[in-house]
Amino acid sequence: MKFVSKILSIILIIPALFGIYAEDKKDTEAFSKENIAAVGYENTIETAIPQTELYNMIYEHYTSELPEGKTEKKAIIIGYDGCRADELIHVEKAFSGITKMLNDGASISLAYCGGVNYPEKNTQDTSTAPGWCSVLTGVWADKNGVTGNGITKSLEYKTLLTSLTEDKIIDSASFVTSWDGHFETDNSTYKAEKAYCEEKNLNVSFNCCSGDTESANTVIKDLKNEDCSDFIFAIYEGTDHAGHKFGFSSNNPIYRAGFRLNEILAYRTLNAIESRDTYETEDWLIIITSDHGGFGTNHGGPTVQERMVFIISNKKFGK
Ligand SMILES: [Zn+2]
Repeated sequence: MKFVSKILSIILIIPALFGIYAEDKKDTEAFSKENIAAVGYENTIETAIPQTELYNMIYEHYTSELPEGKTEKKAIIIGYDGCRADELIHVEKAFSGITKMLNDGASISLAYCGGVNYPEKNTQDTSTAPGWCSVLTGVWADKNGVTGNGITKSLEYKTLLTSLTEDKIIDSASFVTSWDGHFETDNSTYKAEKAYCEEKNLNVSFNCCSGDTESANTVIKDLKNEDCSDFIFAIYEGTDHAGHKFGFSSNNPIYRAGFRLNEILAYRTLNAIESRDTYETEDWLIIITSDHGGFGTNHGGPTVQERMVFIISNKKFGK
């Protein structure tokens, strides 16, 4: 037996010596671009959409006329934190939020973060706070001031959650996350805005959960209410956590597992929307997107792996 196991370990070691198991080493710019092309996006890196466009999409949705037979506007952004655009080559058929949306006719677009499109050097960190803040304020950091994590945004540019509620375009909004850097810590991004909502008694809830499962349960619990939040902004962190610990790479099976977790939670979330008693009379805008990608075990920089994100939307842009 000893001899057999020795032979076996030699057989396993040989490919490792040649780097066959060290898949992350292949995470080159060309490899990432190849995978992005294989996903089947409706646009290209050159024509990628700025992530700030999501702000306009949400705003247009609420301010456009209700379609016939519908009585109420609702919207949700499901964020896959730190999910690279090329990771979508691993979308599976079952229990997948993205597959469910695509089967229902959703559009799938490439988008970019970082202030300007790749390959130009990014003007703001390809990180969580600037990424989501650009989505929620519709402007880049040169205006909203959030160039990196740990910067408290001023009230000059308010998020969609606050402005839509304050302007009475919607009745209520909910921010769900498990990262305390958004609005819990001393230098959190939305610390001032959360205080403003409390002071003005605006119906905007800020929920910092213990982890992704609790985040999804918080969203689903809200969706089970007859009068659920009109706008839900929920971030699932599976991809970001796996990336920081084990490497952001579409070749990394642990990153893929983080992506799977996000996908399953999004699938549950979408089912909860469709299970609403009033679903047939509600006009929903549903979006799955991400804030930034990653390279190695980090992000913030200018690589294509960090810059390209995606937008899955049940409504077409500009319509
Ligand atoms: Zn992030």
